[in-house]
Amino acid sequence: NFNSGAASKTEGEANNKTEDDDKEDKAAQSYLNKLIRSSLVNNKNEVEVLQKDPNSPLYSVKSFEELRLKPQLLQGVYGMGFNRPSKIQETALPMMLAEPPQNLIAQSQSGTGKTAAFVLAMLSHVDPSNKWPQCLCVSPTYELALQTGKVIEQMGKFYPEVQLVYAIRGNKLPKGVKLQEQIVIGTPGTMLDWCAKFKFIEPKKIRVFVLDEADVMIATQGHQDQSIRIQRMLPKNCQMLLFSATFEETVWNFAQRIVPEPNIIKLKREEETLDTIKQYYVLCNSKEEKFEALCNIYGAITIAQAMIFCHTRKTAGWLAGELSREGHQVALLSGEMQVEQRAAVIDRFRDGKEKVLVTTNVCARGIDVEQVSVVINFDLPVDKDMNPDNETYLHRIGRTGRFGKRGLAINMVDSKMSMNILNRIQEHFSESHCLSHLSLPDLSHLP
Ligand code: ADP
Repeated sequence: NFNSGAASKTEGEANNKTEDDDKEDKAAQSYLNKLIRSSLVNNKNEVEVLQKDPNSPLYSVKSFEELRLKPQLLQGVYGMGFNRPSKIQETALPMMLAEPPQNLIAQSQSGTGKTAAFVLAMLSHVDPSNKWPQCLCVSPTYELALQTGKVIEQMGKFYPEVQLVYAIRGNKLPKGVKLQEQIVIGTPGTMLDWCAKFKFIEPKKIRVFVLDEADVMIATQGHQDQSIRIQRMLPKNCQMLLFSATFEETVWNFAQRIVPEPNIIKLKREEETLDTIKQYYVLCNSKEEKFEALCNIYGAITIAQAMIFCHTRKTAGWLAGELSREGHQVALLSGEMQVEQRAAVIDRFRDGKEKVLVTTNVCARGIDVEQVSVVINFDLPVDKDMNPDNETYLHRIGRTGRFGKRGLAINMVDSKMSMNILNRIQEHFSESHCLSHLSLPDLSHLP
């Protein structure tokens, strides 16, 4: 009776997909994060600011009042339960609301308040008495656009004069229509059509252009060019804002093409550490023996909540099945499940309804389940060339030791090759993090 979602895609498609595809599925990951995120992500790092004009004073605000928002918007902000600006909002908001408008490129991990920030900027800049589009916001997918639209609706709840329309596939308008809504949110293809081909929107009247999730955008074929073509139709004095969770070279190059003369804000991810985590390994000879070992320690790990990582969906599915056959209640989170189903599984796990979550790498990135204190690597993390994936190791295990908590990690080794991988991971993280050996039959002394 483990919690498995029905495969949403056709069998063939699901089977052909490898775990690497899951990693590539950035848009789904990002959407999943939005579905499960209910509050701001903690980040103790300092915001780095690079101003277009280094001599102009840099304002940062500690309260929403200081921003002199329209009362309807302040009401909307408080209505969402926000008490004070997030770290990134402290500097991004005054910059975006300044007169004359300033361009901004901002990068910080998901959950740090970027969406809320640019939504507030869009709502502040529109003139509701003008019945035409004034803000365009492009998102990489249909789902992400809808999600951002929801935030606009929530924050603009007390400002009903401002209207919103979705430029997404399936939303067909009659020929010759001129939009009256002040804010248009959509995907690049439809947005471009609405501006260039159907002329529902007059690009020259746009005052704010937002490009969200730039890193996801460039991972999708065609989106980069479409976004640039939209941007070129906009007036010179239109405010350009671009947001991204990560900032590789490619994202940066794209950002500079979209946003001229930008101010730049960056907030580095908080480093994960292995300092407070006890790491063990168990020597086995096969998958079956690993399963046995896992059953032996099952009682001990379920005192807390545990995540078990497998390399493939197939192993994860098998393991979840075997565990539930043994009478253990486990949840399975796997790449073939629809994003909504994944979100539901994570929610149940976070609520403590399930103690053990079996998963592949899909869930290792970006998703914080803070109460996890035991991580089991049923398979060690390796990249596609079967080299140790140190970053994934740190990310899987590091989550157990957040906020000074103590965590426990158990690595299952089933061959000389995997022992070698584990040794190399250990070397990478230096001597101070040596792993202790657990002998198989007697695991009862585990903390
Ligand atoms: P990002 O776009 O960086 O992923 P969001 O704007 O979606 O971040 O914010 C993440 C979560 O934090 C959301 O649930 C949002 O409602 C909430 N949030 C955003 N800003 C604040 C704030 N100033 N105070 C409290 N919660 C906030």
